[in-house]
Amino acid sequence: VLRFPFSPRPVPTSPIQEFLHSLHARLRELSEGNVADYIPELAHADPDQFGICIATHDGFVYEVGDSRQPFTIQSISKPLTYGLALEEAGEAAVLAKIGVEPSGDVFNAISLRPQTGAPLNPLINAGAITACGLVPGDTVALKSSRILATYSRFAGRTLDIDERVYASESGTGHRNRAIGWMLRNFSILDGDPTPALETYFKQCAIRVTCRDLALMGATLANGGVNPITKERCLESKFVPRVLAVMMMEGFYDESGAWAYKAGLPAKTGVGGGIVAVVPGKMAIVGFSPPVNEAGNSVRATKAINYIIDSLDLDIFGSTR
Ligand code: GLU
Repeated sequence: VLRFPFSPRPVPTSPIQEFLHSLHARLRELSEGNVADYIPELAHADPDQFGICIATHDGFVYEVGDSRQPFTIQSISKPLTYGLALEEAGEAAVLAKIGVEPSGDVFNAISLRPQTGAPLNPLINAGAITACGLVPGDTVALKSSRILATYSRFAGRTLDIDERVYASESGTGHRNRAIGWMLRNFSILDGDPTPALETYFKQCAIRVTCRDLALMGATLANGGVNPITKERCLESKFVPRVLAVMMMEGFYDESGAWAYKAGLPAKTGVGGGIVAVVPGKMAIVGFSPPVNEAGNSVRATKAINYIIDSLDLDIFGSTR
């Protein structure tokens, strides 16, 4: 008989890990929402996939379910490329082309200011395509490798592009092309909009997991420095700017309702991912492909809301 100190000791389980397990088990049963299929390749996603991950500003990670399942980042890319554009082109140049007003519109609305043609903000497609135009490089290859390197730094590992999803969106994204040519018409984009558009399609097809997104969000929560690799990913002065646009427009046309209820900057994507950032503390990520009418993952929204409520993370909550 082995006695102490040789007898096996129970592995300590974190209360957060247990909390995530029971939340995951409960919400897995939900069957609302549908897998997005307007990009044909996305329709192949498994509707049962469901992962949750929390990463803290000091590098602790808690995950459950399909938290290592890769999926395409889609619109969650938009705030990251906006940050890159702010750094590379400078704030004045970016503000001259992309506004910071809420749109209240669906993600692929045209939403250009009637007088100037400037997109209302960087998280609607028009603003995101413009941000791709502001990323340095004349070619799609140069721009997208710059973007991929930046996102990889945020995630703390080398990411790649899902070429099938890219080809699928590039082959069907006529509405986004129309937006690109509108931007060209108003001289928001200079020259042929194709490099900005194809770069946008590529960035949307970057493959991530819940864990990657949680580390990306935790990097924002940590002032732009990845909490594990300690690499700077975004100048600290731009982090509050990026979080502000996420607060205002991160949930498409449900952004007001999200801000009202959750009180945190967040960004969703039609691939089923959602990242919410608790400034100075952590990021909370949910992933599950079935999305509601607005394009927001149903399970992920509920999971993140529940975590925010339970841990009292709403940034306006300190006034209670
Ligand atoms: N690539 C998608 C599009 O522009 C992104 C949509 C999204 O996640 O909202 O249609």
